[in-house]
Amino acid sequence: MSEELFKKVVSHCKEYGFVFPSSEIYEGLGAVYDYGQNGVELKNNLRQYWWKSMVQLNENIVGLDAAIFMHPKVWKASGHVDGFSDPMIDNKDSKKRYRADQLLEDKIDRYSKDGKTAKAEELQAALDKAMLDSNLEELKNLIVSHEIACPVSGTRNWTDVRQFNLMFATEMGAMAGTDADKVYLRPETAQGIFVNFLNVQKTGRMKVPFGIAQTGKAFRNEIIARQFIMRMREFEQMEMQFFVRPGTQKEWYAHWKETRMKWHHKLGFGENMYRFHDHVKLAHYADAAVDIEFNFPFGFKELEGIHSRTDFDLRNHAELSGKKLQYFDAEKYENGKDYGNYIPYVIETSIGLDRLFLATLCAAYKEEEVGEGDKKDTRVVLSLPPALAPIKLAIFPLTKKDGLPELAREIMNDLRMDFNCFYEEKDAIGKRYRRQDALGTPFCVTVDHESLENRTVTIRHRDSMIQERVPVEQIRNILADSCSWKTLLS
Ligand code: ATP
Repeated sequence: MSEELFKKVVSHCKEYGFVFPSSEIYEGLGAVYDYGQNGVELKNNLRQYWWKSMVQLNENIVGLDAAIFMHPKVWKASGHVDGFSDPMIDNKDSKKRYRADQLLEDKIDRYSKDGKTAKAEELQAALDKAMLDSNLEELKNLIVSHEIACPVSGTRNWTDVRQFNLMFATEMGAMAGTDADKVYLRPETAQGIFVNFLNVQKTGRMKVPFGIAQTGKAFRNEIIARQFIMRMREFEQMEMQFFVRPGTQKEWYAHWKETRMKWHHKLGFGENMYRFHDHVKLAHYADAAVDIEFNFPFGFKELEGIHSRTDFDLRNHAELSGKKLQYFDAEKYENGKDYGNYIPYVIETSIGLDRLFLATLCAAYKEEEVGEGDKKDTRVVLSLPPALAPIKLAIFPLTKKDGLPELAREIMNDLRMDFNCFYEEKDAIGKRYRRQDALGTPFCVTVDHESLENRTVTIRHRDSMIQERVPVEQIRNILADSCSWKTLLS
Protein backbone atom coordinates (compact mmCIF):
# COMPACT_ATOMS: atom_id res chain seq x y z
CA MET A 1 0.00 0.00 0.00
CA SER A 2 2.68 2.46 1.05
CA GLU A 3 4.87 1.57 -1.89
CA GLU A 4 1.89 2.26 -4.07
CA LEU A 5 1.48 5.69 -2.47
CA PHE A 6 5.13 6.43 -3.12
CA LYS A 7 4.79 5.50 -6.79
CA LYS A 8 1.76 7.75 -7.06
CA VAL A 9 3.58 10.67 -5.48
CA VAL A 10 6.51 10.24 -7.86
CA SER A 11 4.29 10.20 -10.93
CA HIS A 12 2.19 13.06 -9.58
CA CYS A 13 5.39 15.12 -9.27
CA LYS A 14 6.11 14.52 -12.94
CA GLU A 15 2.59 14.95 -14.25
CA TYR A 16 1.88 18.21 -12.43
CA GLY A 17 5.18 20.00 -12.96
CA PHE A 18 6.72 19.51 -9.51
CA VAL A 19 9.84 17.44 -10.24
CA PHE A 20 11.42 16.17 -13.48
CA PRO A 21 14.45 13.94 -13.96
CA SER A 22 17.44 16.06 -14.97
CA SER A 23 18.27 16.11 -18.69
CA GLU A 24 15.35 13.82 -19.30
CA ILE A 25 15.56 13.96 -23.11
CA TYR A 26 18.97 12.27 -22.71
CA GLU A 27 17.52 9.55 -20.44
CA GLY A 28 18.26 11.52 -17.26
CA LEU A 29 21.29 11.76 -15.00
CA GLY A 30 21.54 9.49 -11.96
CA ALA A 31 20.02 11.00 -8.83
CA VAL A 32 19.82 14.52 -10.22
CA TYR A 33 16.45 16.22 -10.55
CA ASP A 34 14.92 19.49 -11.75
CA TYR A 35 12.05 21.30 -10.09
CA GLY A 36 9.23 22.30 -12.42
CA GLN A 37 6.89 25.28 -12.44
CA ASN A 38 4.95 24.18 -9.36
CA GLY A 39 7.82 22.44 -7.62
CA VAL A 40 9.94 25.56 -7.58
CA GLU A 41 7.14 27.50 -5.87
CA LEU A 42 6.63 24.87 -3.19
CA LYS A 43 10.37 24.57 -2.66
CA ASN A 44 10.76 28.34 -2.35
CA ASN A 45 7.93 28.42 0.17
CA LEU A 46 9.44 25.62 2.26
CA ARG A 47 12.76 27.44 2.25
CA GLN A 48 11.00 30.62 3.33
CA TYR A 49 9.25 28.82 6.17
CA TRP A 50 12.63 27.67 7.44
CA TRP A 51 14.35 31.02 6.87
CA LYS A 52 11.63 33.06 8.54
CA SER A 53 11.52 30.85 11.59
CA MET A 54 15.31 30.73 11.91
CA VAL A 55 16.49 34.18 10.90
CA GLN A 56 13.55 36.53 11.00
CA LEU A 57 12.14 35.29 14.29
CA ASN A 58 15.42 34.90 16.18
CA GLU A 59 17.19 38.11 17.11
CA ASN A 60 20.42 36.22 17.67
CA ILE A 61 20.49 34.31 14.38
CA VAL A 62 21.61 35.92 11.12
CA GLY A 63 21.85 34.66 7.57
CA LEU A 64 24.73 34.03 5.20
CA ASP A 65 25.17 32.99 1.59
CA ALA A 66 28.64 31.53 1.12
CA ALA A 67 30.02 30.34 -2.21
CA ILE A 68 29.87 26.69 -3.23
CA PHE A 69 33.58 26.65 -4.05
CA MET A 70 35.87 26.97 -1.07
CA HIS A 71 39.60 26.81 -0.50
CA PRO A 72 40.70 23.15 -0.67
CA LYS A 73 42.17 23.41 2.83
CA VAL A 74 38.66 23.87 4.21
CA TRP A 75 37.91 20.22 3.44
CA LYS A 76 41.21 19.09 4.90
CA ALA A 77 40.45 20.89 8.17
CA SER A 78 36.85 19.70 8.29
CA GLY A 79 37.94 16.08 7.94
CA HIS A 80 36.13 15.54 4.66
CA VAL A 81 39.23 14.80 2.56
CA ASP A 82 40.26 11.99 4.88
CA GLY A 83 37.01 10.84 6.40
CA PHE A 84 33.97 11.62 4.27
CA SER A 85 33.52 8.24 2.72
CA ASP A 86 31.21 5.26 2.57
CA PRO A 87 32.25 1.61 2.45
CA MET A 88 31.60 0.27 -1.04
CA ILE A 89 31.73 -3.14 -2.63
CA ASP A 90 31.45 -4.25 -6.27
CA ASN A 91 29.89 -7.37 -7.66
CA LYS A 92 32.38 -8.76 -10.18
CA ASP A 93 29.72 -10.25 -12.44
CA SER A 94 27.20 -7.43 -12.72
CA LYS A 95 29.89 -4.73 -12.20
CA LYS A 96 27.35 -3.03 -9.95
CA ARG A 97 28.55 -0.99 -6.99
CA TYR A 98 26.86 -1.07 -3.59
CA ARG A 99 27.25 0.48 -0.17
CA ALA A 100 28.36 -2.41 2.00
CA ASP A 101 26.41 -1.17 5.02
CA GLN A 102 23.23 -0.82 2.97
CA LEU A 103 23.46 -4.37 1.63
CA LEU A 104 23.60 -5.47 5.26
CA GLU A 105 20.77 -3.14 6.30
CA ASP A 106 18.62 -4.63 3.54
CA LYS A 107 19.43 -8.14 4.81
CA ILE A 108 18.42 -7.09 8.34
CA ASP A 109 15.11 -5.81 6.96
CA ARG A 110 14.54 -9.11 5.20
CA TYR A 111 15.29 -11.09 8.38
CA SER A 112 12.79 -8.90 10.26
CA LYS A 113 10.12 -9.32 7.61
CA ASP A 114 10.60 -13.10 7.69
CA GLY A 115 10.15 -13.09 11.48
CA LYS A 116 13.81 -13.98 12.14
CA THR A 117 14.12 -11.36 14.86
CA ALA A 118 17.10 -12.89 16.66
CA LYS A 119 19.10 -13.07 13.43
CA ALA A 120 18.18 -9.49 12.57
CA GLU A 121 19.33 -8.23 15.95
CA GLU A 122 22.55 -10.21 15.83
CA LEU A 123 23.45 -8.84 12.39
CA GLN A 124 22.50 -5.29 13.40
CA ALA A 125 24.86 -5.47 16.38
CA ALA A 126 27.67 -6.85 14.22
CA LEU A 127 27.08 -4.16 11.58
CA ASP A 128 27.06 -1.36 14.17
CA LYS A 129 30.34 -2.60 15.61
CA ALA A 130 32.02 -2.96 12.22
CA MET A 131 30.91 0.56 11.23
CA LEU A 132 32.03 2.00 14.54
CA ASP A 133 35.47 0.41 14.12
CA SER A 134 35.57 1.21 10.37
CA ASN A 135 36.39 -2.48 9.98
CA LEU A 136 36.11 -3.06 6.22
CA GLU A 137 37.25 -6.68 6.42
CA GLU A 138 34.49 -7.46 8.90
CA LEU A 139 31.88 -5.84 6.63
CA LYS A 140 32.98 -8.15 3.83
CA ASN A 141 32.90 -11.16 6.20
CA LEU A 142 29.32 -10.30 7.18
CA ILE A 143 28.25 -10.02 3.53
CA VAL A 144 29.80 -13.41 2.79
CA SER A 145 28.63 -15.21 5.92
CA HIS A 146 25.05 -13.98 5.53
CA GLU A 147 25.09 -15.16 1.92
CA ILE A 148 24.12 -11.82 0.44
CA ALA A 149 23.86 -11.98 -3.35
CA CYS A 150 23.91 -9.16 -5.88
CA PRO A 151 20.30 -8.24 -6.72
CA VAL A 152 21.28 -7.88 -10.39
CA SER A 153 23.53 -10.86 -11.16
CA GLY A 154 22.33 -13.05 -8.30
CA THR A 155 25.93 -14.10 -7.59
CA ARG A 156 28.10 -13.74 -4.49
CA ASN A 157 31.24 -12.89 -6.41
CA TRP A 158 32.28 -9.76 -4.43
CA THR A 159 35.35 -7.53 -4.39
CA ASP A 160 36.82 -6.42 -1.08
CA VAL A 161 35.14 -3.54 0.72
CA ARG A 162 36.85 -0.19 0.11
CA GLN A 163 36.28 3.36 1.29
CA PHE A 164 34.85 5.71 -1.34
CA ASN A 165 35.12 9.47 -0.85
CA LEU A 166 31.82 11.18 -1.59
CA MET A 167 33.16 14.59 -2.59
CA PHE A 168 33.07 15.76 -6.21
CA ALA A 169 36.35 17.34 -7.26
CA THR A 170 36.98 19.67 -10.15
CA GLU A 171 39.73 22.00 -11.34
CA MET A 172 39.86 25.73 -10.99
CA GLY A 173 41.47 28.22 -13.35
CA ALA A 174 43.43 27.63 -16.51
CA MET A 175 46.19 25.50 -14.99
CA ALA A 176 44.40 22.18 -14.89
CA GLY A 177 46.17 19.08 -13.78
CA THR A 178 48.11 20.13 -10.70
CA ASP A 179 46.87 19.08 -7.32
CA ALA A 180 46.95 22.63 -6.03
CA ASP A 181 44.17 23.64 -8.41
CA LYS A 182 41.81 20.92 -7.24
CA VAL A 183 38.64 22.28 -5.69
CA TYR A 184 35.62 20.45 -4.35
CA LEU A 185 31.94 21.06 -4.73
CA ARG A 186 30.92 21.53 -1.11
CA PRO A 187 29.38 18.38 0.43
CA GLU A 188 27.70 20.48 3.14
CA THR A 189 26.95 24.16 3.61
CA ALA A 190 28.18 24.23 7.22
CA GLN A 191 31.83 24.97 6.42
CA GLY A 192 30.91 28.24 4.73
CA ILE A 193 29.51 29.28 8.09
CA PHE A 194 32.56 28.22 10.09
CA VAL A 195 35.08 30.06 7.93
CA ASN A 196 32.93 33.21 8.16
CA PHE A 197 32.43 32.90 11.90
CA LEU A 198 34.60 35.91 12.79
CA ASN A 199 33.46 38.02 9.82
CA VAL A 200 29.86 37.75 10.92
CA GLN A 201 30.53 37.90 14.65
CA LYS A 202 32.61 41.08 14.38
CA THR A 203 30.61 42.97 11.74
CA GLY A 204 27.28 41.99 13.30
CA ARG A 205 28.58 42.53 16.86
CA MET A 206 27.08 39.17 17.69
CA LYS A 207 27.23 37.91 21.26
CA VAL A 208 27.50 34.21 22.14
CA PRO A 209 25.12 32.44 22.07
CA PHE A 210 24.28 33.29 18.47
CA GLY A 211 23.64 31.49 15.23
CA ILE A 212 24.39 31.75 11.52
CA ALA A 213 21.96 30.21 9.06
CA GLN A 214 22.33 29.42 5.40
CA THR A 215 20.56 27.52 2.66
CA GLY A 216 22.23 26.29 -0.49
CA LYS A 217 23.32 23.49 -2.77
CA ALA A 218 25.50 20.63 -1.57
CA PHE A 219 26.96 17.79 -3.63
CA ARG A 220 27.70 14.19 -2.72
CA ASN A 221 28.73 11.43 -5.04
CA GLU A 222 26.38 8.95 -3.39
CA ILE A 223 27.33 5.38 -4.28
CA ILE A 224 23.79 4.35 -4.79
CA ALA A 225 21.03 6.81 -5.10
CA ARG A 226 17.51 5.66 -4.63
CA GLN A 227 14.03 6.68 -3.62
CA PHE A 228 13.62 9.63 -5.95
CA ILE A 229 14.68 12.94 -4.35
CA MET A 230 15.43 11.22 -1.01
CA ARG A 231 19.07 10.67 -1.90
CA MET A 232 20.43 12.92 -4.60
CA ARG A 233 23.89 13.77 -5.85
CA GLU A 234 23.03 17.47 -5.99
CA PHE A 235 20.69 18.67 -3.27
CA GLU A 236 19.94 21.63 -1.08
CA GLN A 237 20.59 21.96 2.61
CA MET A 238 19.28 24.39 5.19
CA GLU A 239 21.75 24.57 8.03
CA MET A 240 22.16 26.64 11.14
CA GLN A 241 25.25 26.66 13.34
CA PHE A 242 24.62 27.92 16.84
CA PHE A 243 27.72 29.08 18.72
CA VAL A 244 27.64 28.58 22.50
CA ARG A 245 29.91 28.76 25.53
CA PRO A 246 31.88 25.55 26.08
CA GLY A 247 30.10 23.49 28.72
CA THR A 248 26.62 24.72 27.76
CA GLN A 249 26.28 22.58 24.66
CA LYS A 250 24.06 19.94 26.30
CA GLU A 251 21.37 22.50 27.18
CA TRP A 252 21.45 24.04 23.73
CA TYR A 253 21.35 20.64 22.09
CA ALA A 254 18.18 19.87 24.06
CA HIS A 255 16.77 23.29 23.16
CA TRP A 256 17.28 22.85 19.42
CA LYS A 257 15.99 19.28 19.45
CA GLU A 258 12.73 20.49 20.89
CA THR A 259 12.52 23.64 18.78
CA ARG A 260 13.09 21.81 15.53
CA MET A 261 10.56 19.10 16.33
CA LYS A 262 7.94 21.77 17.06
CA TRP A 263 8.69 23.40 13.72
CA HIS A 264 7.90 20.12 11.95
CA HIS A 265 4.74 19.53 13.98
CA LYS A 266 3.45 22.96 12.94
CA LEU A 267 3.04 21.71 9.40
CA GLY A 268 0.05 19.79 10.68
CA PHE A 269 0.78 16.39 9.15
CA GLY A 270 0.41 14.62 12.52
CA GLU A 271 2.91 14.31 15.36
CA ASN A 272 3.02 10.53 14.95
CA MET A 273 4.72 11.09 11.58
CA TYR A 274 7.96 12.13 13.31
CA ARG A 275 10.33 10.53 15.76
CA PHE A 276 13.82 11.04 17.17
CA HIS A 277 16.56 8.56 16.42
CA ASP A 278 19.83 8.83 18.36
CA HIS A 279 23.00 8.10 16.41
CA VAL A 280 24.94 4.97 17.34
CA LYS A 281 27.95 5.88 15.25
CA LEU A 282 28.84 9.50 15.89
CA ALA A 283 30.43 11.47 13.06
CA HIS A 284 34.06 12.45 13.52
CA TYR A 285 33.08 15.90 14.79
CA ALA A 286 30.16 15.18 17.14
CA ASP A 287 29.69 14.54 20.87
CA ALA A 288 25.95 13.94 20.47
CA ALA A 289 23.70 13.57 17.45
CA VAL A 290 20.09 12.81 16.76
CA ASP A 291 17.97 12.54 13.64
CA ILE A 292 14.42 13.71 13.24
CA GLU A 293 12.92 10.92 11.18
CA PHE A 294 9.81 11.21 9.06
CA ASN A 295 7.42 8.39 8.29
CA PHE A 296 7.95 8.23 4.52
CA PRO A 297 5.90 5.69 2.53
CA PHE A 298 9.01 3.47 2.66
CA GLY A 299 9.37 3.79 6.44
CA PHE A 300 10.87 6.16 9.01
CA LYS A 301 13.95 7.82 7.51
CA GLU A 302 16.18 10.76 8.38
CA LEU A 303 14.79 14.16 7.50
CA GLU A 304 16.93 16.40 9.68
CA GLY A 305 20.04 16.01 11.80
CA ILE A 306 20.82 17.86 15.03
CA HIS A 307 24.46 17.60 15.97
CA SER A 308 26.55 18.79 18.87
CA ARG A 309 29.76 19.50 16.92
CA THR A 310 31.94 20.60 19.86
CA ASP A 311 34.69 23.06 18.84
CA PHE A 312 35.99 20.59 16.25
CA ASP A 313 35.52 22.73 13.15
CA LEU A 314 36.63 26.12 14.46
CA ARG A 315 39.61 24.56 16.22
CA ASN A 316 40.79 22.76 13.11
CA HIS A 317 40.29 25.80 10.89
CA ALA A 318 42.25 27.88 13.39
CA GLU A 319 45.10 25.38 13.33
CA LEU A 320 45.28 24.98 9.57
CA SER A 321 44.78 28.64 8.68
CA GLY A 322 46.89 30.05 11.50
CA LYS A 323 44.08 32.54 12.25
CA LYS A 324 42.71 32.95 15.75
CA LEU A 325 39.09 31.89 15.54
CA GLN A 326 38.22 32.86 19.07
CA TYR A 327 35.52 34.78 20.78
CA PHE A 328 36.11 37.30 23.51
CA ASP A 329 33.26 36.96 25.97
CA ALA A 330 33.08 40.36 27.69
CA GLU A 331 30.60 39.06 30.22
CA LYS A 332 33.12 36.50 31.39
CA TYR A 333 35.76 39.11 32.17
CA GLU A 334 35.92 39.00 35.94
CA ASN A 335 38.21 40.50 38.66
CA GLY A 336 40.53 41.93 36.06
CA LYS A 337 41.12 38.45 34.70
CA ASP A 338 40.21 37.34 31.22
CA TYR A 339 38.22 34.15 31.41
CA GLY A 340 36.50 34.96 28.24
CA ASN A 341 38.69 34.02 25.29
CA TYR A 342 37.51 30.76 23.91
CA ILE A 343 36.59 28.79 20.83
CA PRO A 344 32.80 28.44 20.96
CA TYR A 345 31.09 25.08 20.85
CA VAL A 346 28.54 24.50 18.13
CA ILE A 347 25.08 22.98 17.89
CA GLU A 348 24.05 22.39 14.30
CA THR A 349 20.62 21.84 12.81
CA SER A 350 20.77 20.48 9.29
CA ILE A 351 17.82 19.64 7.09
CA GLY A 352 17.63 18.64 3.43
CA LEU A 353 15.20 20.85 1.54
CA ASP A 354 14.54 18.16 -1.05
CA ARG A 355 13.74 15.60 1.64
CA LEU A 356 11.44 18.10 3.29
CA PHE A 357 9.76 18.62 -0.08
CA LEU A 358 9.28 14.87 -0.47
CA ALA A 359 7.95 14.48 3.08
CA THR A 360 5.52 17.34 2.47
CA LEU A 361 4.19 15.85 -0.75
CA CYS A 362 3.86 12.36 0.72
CA ALA A 363 1.92 13.72 3.69
CA ALA A 364 -0.26 16.07 1.65
CA TYR A 365 -1.18 13.68 -1.18
CA LYS A 366 -4.71 12.33 -0.81
CA GLU A 367 -7.18 10.48 -2.96
CA GLU A 368 -10.77 11.13 -1.94
CA GLU A 369 -14.15 9.80 -2.95
CA VAL A 370 -16.38 12.70 -3.89
CA GLY A 371 -19.92 13.12 -5.19
CA GLU A 372 -22.82 10.72 -4.97
CA GLY A 373 -24.75 8.29 -7.14
CA ASP A 374 -23.72 8.44 -10.77
CA LYS A 375 -21.69 11.58 -10.02
CA LYS A 376 -19.36 9.55 -7.79
CA ASP A 377 -15.75 10.29 -8.53
CA THR A 378 -12.32 10.33 -6.94
CA ARG A 379 -10.19 13.41 -6.70
CA VAL A 380 -6.50 13.84 -5.98
CA VAL A 381 -5.86 16.70 -3.61
CA LEU A 382 -2.70 18.07 -2.04
CA SER A 383 -3.65 19.20 1.46
CA LEU A 384 -0.76 21.62 1.74
CA PRO A 385 -0.75 24.29 4.44
CA PRO A 386 -2.03 27.29 2.40
CA ALA A 387 1.11 29.33 3.13
CA LEU A 388 3.13 26.68 1.29
CA ALA A 389 0.83 26.17 -1.69
CA PRO A 390 2.45 27.02 -5.06
CA ILE A 391 -0.68 28.90 -6.17
CA LYS A 392 -2.91 30.63 -3.61
CA LEU A 393 -5.80 31.52 -5.86
CA ALA A 394 -7.10 30.32 -9.22
CA ILE A 395 -9.46 32.66 -11.04
CA PHE A 396 -11.97 31.31 -13.54
CA PRO A 397 -14.41 33.23 -15.69
CA LEU A 398 -17.38 30.90 -16.19
CA THR A 399 -17.32 31.56 -19.94
CA LYS A 400 -14.96 33.28 -22.34
CA LYS A 401 -17.40 36.03 -23.26
CA ASP A 402 -19.92 38.60 -21.98
CA GLY A 403 -17.25 40.58 -20.12
CA LEU A 404 -16.53 37.78 -17.64
CA PRO A 405 -12.82 37.50 -18.56
CA GLU A 406 -12.46 41.25 -18.09
CA LEU A 407 -13.75 41.18 -14.53
CA ALA A 408 -11.74 38.05 -13.77
CA ARG A 409 -8.58 39.79 -15.04
CA GLU A 410 -9.35 42.86 -12.96
CA ILE A 411 -9.58 40.74 -9.79
CA MET A 412 -6.40 38.91 -10.69
CA ASN A 413 -4.44 42.10 -11.39
CA ASP A 414 -5.38 43.48 -8.02
CA LEU A 415 -4.41 40.34 -6.07
CA ARG A 416 -1.34 39.10 -7.91
CA MET A 417 0.93 41.69 -6.27
CA ASP A 418 0.44 39.91 -2.95
CA PHE A 419 -0.52 36.35 -3.85
CA ASN A 420 0.55 33.91 -6.52
CA CYS A 421 -2.54 33.69 -8.75
CA PHE A 422 -3.44 31.56 -11.73
CA TYR A 423 -5.91 32.45 -14.47
CA GLU A 424 -7.75 29.92 -16.62
CA GLU A 425 -10.77 30.10 -18.89
CA LYS A 426 -10.63 26.71 -20.63
CA ASP A 427 -12.70 23.58 -19.78
CA ALA A 428 -15.64 22.99 -17.47
CA ILE A 429 -15.41 24.51 -14.01
CA GLY A 430 -15.37 21.06 -12.36
CA LYS A 431 -12.35 20.05 -14.39
CA ARG A 432 -10.58 23.30 -13.55
CA TYR A 433 -11.25 22.71 -9.82
CA ARG A 434 -9.74 19.22 -10.04
CA ARG A 435 -6.56 20.47 -11.62
CA GLN A 436 -6.12 23.04 -8.83
CA ASP A 437 -6.86 20.40 -6.17
CA ALA A 438 -3.99 18.36 -7.56
CA LEU A 439 -1.66 21.35 -7.14
CA GLY A 440 -2.87 22.12 -3.62
CA THR A 441 -4.40 25.51 -4.53
CA PRO A 442 -6.42 26.50 -1.44
CA PHE A 443 -8.95 28.76 -3.23
CA CYS A 444 -10.67 29.02 -6.59
CA VAL A 445 -12.84 31.96 -7.56
CA THR A 446 -15.44 31.75 -10.32
CA VAL A 447 -16.72 34.88 -12.05
CA ASP A 448 -20.22 34.45 -13.52
CA HIS A 449 -22.99 36.64 -14.88
CA GLU A 450 -24.24 37.55 -11.43
CA SER A 451 -20.76 38.87 -10.70
CA LEU A 452 -21.26 41.55 -13.33
CA GLU A 453 -24.47 42.65 -11.67
CA ASN A 454 -23.44 42.80 -8.02
CA ARG A 455 -19.64 42.25 -7.87
CA THR A 456 -19.88 38.98 -5.99
CA VAL A 457 -18.06 35.76 -6.91
CA THR A 458 -18.13 32.12 -5.86
CA ILE A 459 -15.14 31.16 -3.79
CA ARG A 460 -14.46 27.46 -3.43
CA HIS A 461 -12.41 26.00 -0.59
CA ARG A 462 -10.00 23.20 -1.50
CA ASP A 463 -10.39 20.92 1.52
CA SER A 464 -14.11 21.19 2.26
CA MET A 465 -15.04 21.88 -1.39
CA ILE A 466 -17.62 24.28 0.03
CA GLN A 467 -18.56 27.12 -2.32
CA GLU A 468 -19.83 30.44 -1.05
CA ARG A 469 -20.82 33.72 -2.60
CA VAL A 470 -18.70 36.66 -1.42
CA PRO A 471 -18.15 40.26 -2.51
CA VAL A 472 -15.07 40.70 -4.71
CA GLU A 473 -13.59 43.03 -2.12
CA GLN A 474 -13.57 40.23 0.47
CA ILE A 475 -11.30 37.85 -1.44
CA ARG A 476 -8.18 39.63 -0.29
CA ASN A 477 -9.03 39.20 3.40
CA ILE A 478 -9.90 35.55 3.00
CA LEU A 479 -6.56 34.88 1.32
CA ALA A 480 -4.60 36.99 3.78
CA ASP A 481 -6.06 35.17 6.79
CA SER A 482 -5.63 31.71 5.47
CA CYS A 483 -2.30 32.00 3.62
CA SER A 484 -0.49 34.12 6.19
CA TRP A 485 2.88 32.86 7.46
CA LYS A 486 1.44 33.47 10.91
CA THR A 487 -0.51 30.23 10.63
CA LEU A 488 2.82 28.36 10.59
CA LEU A 489 5.10 30.65 12.55
CA SER A 490 3.10 31.77 15.56
P1 ATP B 1 22.09 9.97 5.27
O1 ATP B 1 22.45 9.18 6.50
O2 ATP B 1 20.66 9.81 4.86
O3 ATP B 1 23.07 9.82 4.15
P2 ATP B 1 23.49 12.10 6.46
O4 ATP B 1 23.42 11.70 7.89
O5 ATP B 1 24.72 11.90 5.68
O6 ATP B 1 22.23 11.50 5.67
P3 ATP B 1 23.79 14.87 7.00
O7 ATP B 1 25.19 14.90 6.58
O8 ATP B 1 23.46 14.95 8.45
O9 ATP B 1 23.06 13.61 6.35
O10 ATP B 1 22.99 15.99 6.18
C1 ATP B 1 21.92 16.70 6.72
C2 ATP B 1 20.66 16.57 5.93
O11 ATP B 1 20.90 16.75 4.54
C3 ATP B 1 20.02 15.19 6.03
O12 ATP B 1 19.21 15.09 7.17
C4 ATP B 1 19.21 15.12 4.76
O13 ATP B 1 17.94 15.73 4.94
C5 ATP B 1 20.01 15.94 3.79
N1 ATP B 1 20.77 15.07 2.88
C6 ATP B 1 21.95 14.47 3.11
N2 ATP B 1 22.35 13.77 2.05
C7 ATP B 1 21.40 13.94 1.10
C8 ATP B 1 21.24 13.48 -0.24
N3 ATP B 1 22.15 12.71 -0.82
N4 ATP B 1 20.12 13.84 -0.91
C9 ATP B 1 19.19 14.63 -0.34
N5 ATP B 1 19.30 15.10 0.91
C10 ATP B 1 20.38 14.76 1.63
